[in-house]
Amino acid sequence: MIDHDVIVVGGGPTGFVTALGLAQAGVDVCLVEAAADIVESPRACVYHWSMLDGLERLGIREECEGVGYTKDDYRWLHKATGEAFEYDISVVGRVTPFNYNMNMGQDKLADIARRRLEALGNATIRWNTHFTGLVQDDDGVTVSLEGPEGREELRAKWVIGADGAGSEVRKALGLSFDGMTWPERFVATNIHHDFESGGYLQSNMVIDPQWGAVIVKITREGLWRCTYMEDANLPEESFAERIPAAFEHLLPGRGGYDVVMASPYKMHQRCASSFRRGRVVLAGDAAHVTNPTGGFGLTTGLFDAYALWPTLAAVVLEGADEALLDTWAEERRAVFLEKADPQARAYKDFVFHACGGPGPKLDAALQGMRDMVVDAEVRFKRLMFTKGLETTSPAER
Ligand SMILES: Cc1cc2nc3c(=O)[nH]c(=O)nc-3n(C[C@H](O)[C@H](O)[C@H](O)COP(=O)(O)OP(=O)(O)OC[C@H]3O[C@@H](n4cnc5c(N)ncnc54)[C@H](O)[C@@H]3O)c2cc1C
Repeated sequence: MIDHDVIVVGGGPTGFVTALGLAQAGVDVCLVEAAADIVESPRACVYHWSMLDGLERLGIREECEGVGYTKDDYRWLHKATGEAFEYDISVVGRVTPFNYNMNMGQDKLADIARRRLEALGNATIRWNTHFTGLVQDDDGVTVSLEGPEGREELRAKWVIGADGAGSEVRKALGLSFDGMTWPERFVATNIHHDFESGGYLQSNMVIDPQWGAVIVKITREGLWRCTYMEDANLPEESFAERIPAAFEHLLPGRGGYDVVMASPYKMHQRCASSFRRGRVVLAGDAAHVTNPTGGFGLTTGLFDAYALWPTLAAVVLEGADEALLDTWAEERRAVFLEKADPQARAYKDFVFHACGGPGPKLDAALQGMRDMVVDAEVRFKRLMFTKGLETTSPAER
């Protein structure tokens, strides 16, 4: 017996957005999440302009923009010389009515999608429920779960593994997660501090081999995200004790600061050997992970979701060819490996290592920033990069 058309494992932003798209299309969806509620740790907070179309298609863009806020400025600061590169992204208005970025914690996106999902009769959410394994056959997938009522099995026609970097679904499929782990640790902090009095705009990259940082205003009310890097050989459990010393180098403004939340992160560049095996697909961090410089982690996860839900809905509801899911899987994997992964590595090298120090590589990167500031064509071309991370649903071609 089939209990649901689709089981989505993982209630992060990828899982909730995919589940919402499927349910709105008429697919019967069950989302299982191990935690008791949406996880609030400080993670993705920047939604590039190119991601707003997909939120619009789901009917949640306006609500997201009300909860988060929109902004269009950038400032890159080369700390060693004090040279600053400032520009806005309004030039993408040539291709979209949404010519700005949105900043908002990823937990807020998951929460908005969760509330929309709860209002639909064909969607179920199970909290405190761990996926522990699966067996698939020609007609469906039997998923093993451990929840508040103990162990149980649920059966669905299709399963989506959106259970993050440590994905149990990926492991159950026997897929490898190829790539590397960085030797440094990132520290993401949510803080109150008057960055504006130090000349900072709403999105800032500080280029420096020791005190490189990504500093972004994440709420209208003035909560900021400051992410910096430390040596991963330092003990992780005492990372918070080192924050005051780091902030002496990182905070430019007047007055003090107040840390609301802080979290250390191991960073990886990894990609699953395939995003589909039989009746199970992987999306978001379960399929690929990157260091967060440039903000391509959630970006690629949401682009997976935007192309996946119409494809799977067509297979489930209209009997479309299942091979469309292979096309989806191959295209999403290629986008990650050929575009997002190399660019995220390059951004990390630039912002957090200043391209290895003075020399032609750093000169070229800084000249690229100067060109971006003064030349609208260069700016447009570079800003179109994140649009190139999107693929359409193969079912809609
Ligand atoms: C410091 C930092 C800053 C970042 N900033 C950005 C940014 O600005 N822009 C950007 O694009 N990306 C950013 N990222 C990356 C981004 O956070 C991730 O790509 C994003 O969280 C992926 O979402 P997801 O839903 O795929 O996975 P997750 O958010 O990891 O969600 C997975 C969910 O699955 C659940 N789960 C796990 N195992 C099981 C199980 N066995 N059973 C049931 N449920 C399970 C988990 O509890 C979790 O809720 C950042 C990352 C970090 C670390």
